[in-house]
Amino acid sequence: MTDEYGRGPVPHAQVRVDLAAIRDNVAELSARVGPAAVMTVVKADAYGHGLVPAARAAQAGGATWLGTAVLAEALALRAAGVTGRLMAWLSAPGERWADALAADVDVSASAPWAVTEIAAAARETGRTARLHLKLDSGLGRSGAPVTAWPELVETALKAQAEGLVEVVGLWSHLACADEPGHPANASQSAAFHEAVGLARRQGARPEVLHLANSAAALTMPDAHFDLVRVGLAAYGLSPVPQAVTPADVGLRPAMSVRARLALVKRVPAGQGVSYGHLYRTDRESTLALVPLGYADGVPRHGSGGSAGVGAPVLVSGVTRRVAGRVCMDQFVVDLRDDDARAGDEVVLFGDPAAGEPSAQHWAGACGTISYEIVTRFAPRLPRVYVGADLAEPR
Ligand SMILES: *Cc1c(COP(=O)(O)O)cnc(C)c1O
Repeated sequence: MTDEYGRGPVPHAQVRVDLAAIRDNVAELSARVGPAAVMTVVKADAYGHGLVPAARAAQAGGATWLGTAVLAEALALRAAGVTGRLMAWLSAPGERWADALAADVDVSASAPWAVTEIAAAARETGRTARLHLKLDSGLGRSGAPVTAWPELVETALKAQAEGLVEVVGLWSHLACADEPGHPANASQSAAFHEAVGLARRQGARPEVLHLANSAAALTMPDAHFDLVRVGLAAYGLSPVPQAVTPADVGLRPAMSVRARLALVKRVPAGQGVSYGHLYRTDRESTLALVPLGYADGVPRHGSGGSAGVGAPVLVSGVTRRVAGRVCMDQFVVDLRDDDARAGDEVVLFGDPAAGEPSAQHWAGACGTISYEIVTRFAPRLPRVYVGADLAEPR
């Protein structure tokens, strides 16, 4: 069996995705937030885990909703035969609204222009749009500002009176949910409550109110409302790494990035390693070449100098560090006197419970968040699914 690159069953490097972990994480989160429902967020190729397999695994775990950022992602799910409630929230004027309606994708509006375009598509196609109205309760990103909220609601309710849209959801998004106790959390919750009350007085009868992301799902029970939108936690990573590890809350990472060593060799003391000789061996040592680089998604910020600390890599049962610059296709690890040979498996990150570094360790080493680590692995790397039966239509 080969994939689109003609690669065989034992690739030299791979992103391994444990679909049972996604299923179990979603089940754990559902139990935690019940009676609120879970929308699993599968934008950005399911945070790099593979859009369709991850969506099916989430549904097997009890996700009754799926969420994407752009409409193309939602339409790709429908094209693959994925059913169930599905919402796409990020659009620009001229969006393929008619396709969204034909595919039964819930849409969102932050401004009257979007309602107008959606209503026009409904008139054209004869289908009623399921519409969520988004409030900017304080994030300062998308959503109608509080001052523009009554006009947005009024525009939508007029279209609803004509049978063109149905206002099924009122929603907003939090700025600082990853900092439990941050005052913005309380003020955004209050602004959301107030806007919901106002919309109800204007005549809105929404099916669902939703505010929480993963961090709020785990730390802000008051913010769960009817539906929580969980992304990162469903993939077994912690959105509040300073406060809780995934294991603390019964989650396990679904993704691991693995490679087989391309070369192992002994070098003398003083050997400069990789571009710019950022790293130099301080003694005779064994270097191992890992056939993965920044073109595959390994952050160049994971490079390690002789003084600085590179990102961690598990080799021969020992956690070593990236030595020197991460290149486009490869990087080097200094194994000192460890025993290893070409073909041995190395793990960049995976499940700390199995002694592997975590995506969070990589994020820490690279000055970023685990979201960015898992989403950046490139199509050049094959995804290998464990528990692949979960990716079959149910
Ligand atoms: C990405 C996203 C989420 C999921 O966020 P996590 O922190 O990964 O749970 C929820 N809601 C919106 C609007 C998003 O864009």
